[in-house]
Amino acid sequence: MDDCIFCQIVDGEIPSRTVYEDDTVLAFLDANPLARGHTLVIPKAHHERVGEMPSDVAAAVFAAVNDLTPAVEAAVDAPGTTVAFNNGEAAGQEVPHAHCHIVPRFESDGGRPIHSLFGDRPDLSDAELDDVEAAIEAERD
Ligand code: 5GP
Ligand code: ZN
Repeated sequence: MDDCIFCQIVDGEIPSRTVYEDDTVLAFLDANPLARGHTLVIPKAHHERVGEMPSDVAAAVFAAVNDLTPAVEAAVDAPGTTVAFNNGEAAGQEVPHAHCHIVPRFESDGGRPIHSLFGDRPDLSDAELDDVEAAIEAERD
């Protein structure tokens, strides 16, 4: 994808601070970090969203996230991290090349958990939950 910023980083056309690289995955520091050590983990191939990566690529991305998260925490002495994908425009994804954020968290950083992104929780009946459970299962068949 010629006009994709992250593909240009993979191709070396835009510089980045690379913290990990293999044949499938690249991890680099976010240029506009939410916290010291904020790292992005991406598939090298252009896949826009979670669910669009072949399973071997998705597995490699998550393996890198699993490996890098404690390294990022140790590097900046963070007791925790928020690890997340903004997946799709509706969820705030600005760069349309799938990327996992590893954001170091500190006791007094003023940040909140992912739950705080949302307002009132929907009041779903048991029947509605049954329907959702069945619908997700059916979509995977
Ligand atoms: P999104 O909102 O799509 O989940 O997050 C995109 C992230 O990419 C943002 O945190 C932003 O700071 C980061 N970003 C955007 N352009 C560049 C860039 O050219 N280099 C690097 N290293 N990060 C970038
Ligand atoms: Zn791309």
